[in-house]
Amino acid sequence: MTKTKWTNIKDIIEGNKTGKKINIRGWIYRSRSSGNIVFMVIRDNGGILQATIKKGNLPDEDFNDAKKALIESSLELEGVIREDKRAPGGYELKVSNLNIINFAEKFPIVKDQSPEFLLDKRHLWIRSQYLNSILKVRSTVVGAIHKFFRKRGYYEFDAPVLQPNQCEGGSTLFQVKYYNNKTFLSQSWQLYAEAAIFSLEKIYNMGPTFRAERSKTSRHLSEFWMAEMEVAWADLYDITEIAKEEIKFIMKEVLKQNKSDLEYLNQDIKKLEKISKSKFPTITYTEAINILKKHMDIDWGKDLRTLEENKLMEHFETPVVVTNYPVEIMAFYKPKDPKDNKTALCFDMIAPGGYGEIVGGSQRSLDINDMTNRLKEMGESIDNYDWYFDLRRYGSVPHSGYGLGVERVVAWICGIENIKDAIPFPRTVLRFRP
Ligand code: ATP
Ligand code: MG
Repeated sequence: MTKTKWTNIKDIIEGNKTGKKINIRGWIYRSRSSGNIVFMVIRDNGGILQATIKKGNLPDEDFNDAKKALIESSLELEGVIREDKRAPGGYELKVSNLNIINFAEKFPIVKDQSPEFLLDKRHLWIRSQYLNSILKVRSTVVGAIHKFFRKRGYYEFDAPVLQPNQCEGGSTLFQVKYYNNKTFLSQSWQLYAEAAIFSLEKIYNMGPTFRAERSKTSRHLSEFWMAEMEVAWADLYDITEIAKEEIKFIMKEVLKQNKSDLEYLNQDIKKLEKISKSKFPTITYTEAINILKKHMDIDWGKDLRTLEENKLMEHFETPVVVTNYPVEIMAFYKPKDPKDNKTALCFDMIAPGGYGEIVGGSQRSLDINDMTNRLKEMGESIDNYDWYFDLRRYGSVPHSGYGLGVERVVAWICGIENIKDAIPFPRTVLRFRP
């Protein structure tokens, strides 16, 4: 028995199969029939293709099946590829054989349904061309991050997901019962990464990260993927430059691999190309406040939230690095700037177009006393951090790191309104199903 050779639709719409007899398999994306002819649009992971099924060109039984089959039925088709300017994608399949694998029931998703309904049916909506395009971009972004760090000699290092400590503030912790004890889901790999740099020096990781974000915003998920890096001997300036390079590298990879997806999502490719080749500015928090003062009443010391970040970004076309936020609003491990004691050696990178913070990082404090005081102020039990302070006791070195929100970057590059569509099955304060 010879094994069937399956052709991917991508290969067909790239023009490589014109005039050839081929076999494809996939799902019915659209279908309409009149009398003795059925027009189907078939989809597979490479795209969509029109199939013309004419009575007489295939066994009658197959033709009747084609007439009966509802959208999302799975099937195999055989036929010849012809160019046809009127067909979506420019090609059509003249079908000579058809085999329905599964006759789908009536598909519950039809046009113009509410976002909430689509989230309830996420397991089916994930087949849409819209999510298909975003998920392909996401796959490229994830691959690009690995490639970026590995090319530069970083090691991939994994931290535990169940952790006894908080890293980013107690209010967003998810508690997990742990035998007769309790632990928390990881808010960051950072504290463990700081242990590992004494062995590997340059490390990165990408993994699920959990924060109980109680306010509903279009930028916050309760479970998201953070791509983090930590590096020995590096200062704040060093890591801001690496973060800029990383974002540009990701953008270039997406432009190389996902042009048709970006087109489907109506993204301005020229604009993205320009960003991928631009220099991203660095400003201080104080400079940002001075820009904002022209538009709003804002005092030095206030954190930059969505409103302020969006206003600030009206002045920029590329992402911007903002450094030196006020110490008071920063996590315990962010050190004071010796040149400006009111601010910390930290940064956020903010994306243009209202997408907000995409990267956040800092130099790490080396001062056990200062960190102890700040943790105490937050009501933390110091005993839990003694292992972490050991890292300052045995061969401490300057070091820095940052975290990049994978979904924030995907949402920005794809131009999607809500971060929920940048992850396959979103978890938010109101949703953890399906
Ligand atoms: P924000 O101020 O937007 O809440 P953050 O300061 O809490 O962000 P960091 O702790 O610096 O964020 O985390 C690093 C990166 O992880 C952020 O720059 C962002 O891209 C991403 N991130 C943080 N929280 C979330 C979340 N709840 N959902 C999705 N991405 C997030
Ligand atoms: Mg936050």
